[in-house]
Amino acid sequence: MENHGFECAECGGSRLEEYMTGVVVYTEVVGLSSDGHIELGDQDTSYDDADFEYRCMDCTWTIPNVFTQVELSEYLREKKWRD
Ligand SMILES: [Zn+2]
Repeated sequence: MENHGFECAECGGSRLEEYMTGVVVYTEVVGLSSDGHIELGDQDTSYDDADFEYRCMDCTWTIPNVFTQVELSEYLREKKWRD
């Protein structure tokens, strides 16, 4: 795997993270123990309304107009070609 070559426009950092919001997690409530603890079943996750951003892990600067892995890939490759 090649290094992605990200360089933050704000702080020059090189660590990049995928930041996802809008993920819905839902779990069946299956029981209640005698000491009052709720028992949950397996967790399910819905990504239907998820939003993605790609941002610097050091200062949280976000790459503008990049919301999918395909767009991120294009952005990173385009930046490399420019260098
Ligand atoms: Zn940064």
